[in-house]
Amino acid sequence: MPSKTTEIILKGIASAPGICIGKAYLVDKEGVDVVEKYAITDDKVKNEVNRFKSAVTRARNELSDIIKGVSEELRQHAGILETHLILLKDKMLYGKAIDIIKTELVNAEWALREATTQAKSMFNDIADPYLKSRSTDIEHVSERIMRNLVGCKDVNISTIDKRVILVAHSLSPAETSQIQLEKIMGFITDRGGKASHTSIIARTLEIPAVMGLDHATRVIKNDSIIIVDGSEGLVIVDPEEETLIKYDELSKKYALRKADILRKSDLPAKSADGHLFTIMGNIELPEEIVAVKDHGGEGIGLFRTEFLYMGRMSFPDEQELFHQYREVAELMAPDPVIIRTLDINGDKAISGIAAPEETNPALGLRAIRFCLKKPEIFKTQLRAILRAAAYGNVKLLLPMISGCEEVRQSFKIIDEVAASLEKDALPYNRKIEIGAMIEIPSAAIMADALADLVDFFSIGTNDLVQYTLAIDRVNRHVAYLYNPLHPAVLRLIKQVVDTAKKKHIRTFMCGEMASEIINLPILLGLGIDAFSMAPQSIPAIKNMIRKISVKGARTFMKDVLKKTSALDIVQLVTDTYGDILSNGIHDQK
Ligand code: PEP
Ligand code: MG
Repeated sequence: MPSKTTEIILKGIASAPGICIGKAYLVDKEGVDVVEKYAITDDKVKNEVNRFKSAVTRARNELSDIIKGVSEELRQHAGILETHLILLKDKMLYGKAIDIIKTELVNAEWALREATTQAKSMFNDIADPYLKSRSTDIEHVSERIMRNLVGCKDVNISTIDKRVILVAHSLSPAETSQIQLEKIMGFITDRGGKASHTSIIARTLEIPAVMGLDHATRVIKNDSIIIVDGSEGLVIVDPEEETLIKYDELSKKYALRKADILRKSDLPAKSADGHLFTIMGNIELPEEIVAVKDHGGEGIGLFRTEFLYMGRMSFPDEQELFHQYREVAELMAPDPVIIRTLDINGDKAISGIAAPEETNPALGLRAIRFCLKKPEIFKTQLRAILRAAAYGNVKLLLPMISGCEEVRQSFKIIDEVAASLEKDALPYNRKIEIGAMIEIPSAAIMADALADLVDFFSIGTNDLVQYTLAIDRVNRHVAYLYNPLHPAVLRLIKQVVDTAKKKHIRTFMCGEMASEIINLPILLGLGIDAFSMAPQSIPAIKNMIRKISVKGARTFMKDVLKKTSALDIVQLVTDTYGDILSNGIHDQK
């Protein structure tokens, strides 16, 4: 009779790939769950405000110390912690809490809790996953002030002296950035998701992480043996002997393959039949260039510039943008840097701009629509881009293009900007390539006309899938329908690539679809010229390209296009390329 199994399997969100097996270490974090409200008299207001301000100062000192101690590999993420420093004094939090103390005559703890709730709800209403995760940043910053207000101790991960797997209700970026790789094998949390900074840091550190497990901290006891499968989003508690053996083998295989693939990441991405592809990295901050270079990236295929506008009280000025763009261009030269102009949402919480109320922000005043409505903001950025283009191989990319008119209007503004730079006698380069992002079906349908206007296309599959299939990309209730291998998406991409080839312009792909190896035979078969992705995915994709023949993939596409469902297409890819693909590393699920 088989023995009764005692192992427990928990399913969460696959946040950073890899497998680790080890002892659980429950992070004992003192939180402030219950906040009392009490009234204060007029003469105590000054005192209460000062008490709040000193708690903020202590929180500030703690964060500054953490930033000073950040390790080399996480230097590029110190920006997130610096954002937390700025958030400490943010109007919405700091200003509001002081306001509440003064106007409602209540204690500082209550005022802080109120201000936090209001600030968080503003971010929670935003569809964009990155901006939504800002709500967690507010929470982390507020928790730090609160701990200082009531005198609770802070968790110090850097003092853990055994080799363990962290189990926490939630981990802030500040806490995660204290992780020492020789001690911490991986971590799991009840809260959080893939778009959170904590998960981004885990991927940078390349340690397995599973988040959003709900009640892992209640199920798992200190020192229990756990298996973390960060690629599948699984945690196995008290595993059976058999499970342990299986995962031990899997983890060894994973480590060997990963080391091998990383070693070869500098080799060109030349297909088995000799076609050369350019593989570039997506970045959000200039510091991420290091990760692109370390993983064999051959340029920046998508520089998401909106991040330089966030977590601050005012818009960056031309000089600041110019310095950042120039730095990226110079560091990457002669490789290309494709700078995408601002892709912000209409209801984005950036001070100084009256954001419209939108019931459907994904279909609202975002990206190029926003920029064309606010030409002064657009011009400031365009001046900085054209100036940086004098110092490297810079290309410009226009997001959310829905038709030719937006491109024509943008070109008019770009010409005006060039004329103003000429007048100011500043070095600039107007002769840069300008591309359109193809992420709205209307742009794909108009590809022939658009190709006459721009120098290249870049397919943004994250949005193209959303708008083609009418699936909100951040709505978990319809997430099961979100599939880039849907035949409608593939037909649209085919139309774009075929048209681009006829018109002799190149087609890049910079959405997440490009980073999943299962999609690769299809993308090569469709004829995409260059790919851009999260830096950590580059080695596996380059490695896989070397194993696939483009000629074979083109023939294979004929069968793919006969299929009528994503499920059938996945099955066909697995049947035809299963052996090759199973040797790849699924860096991103
Ligand atoms: C996309 O839509 O695929 C894309 C790359 O842009 P973003 O994810 O920034 O919207
Ligand atoms: Mg997009």
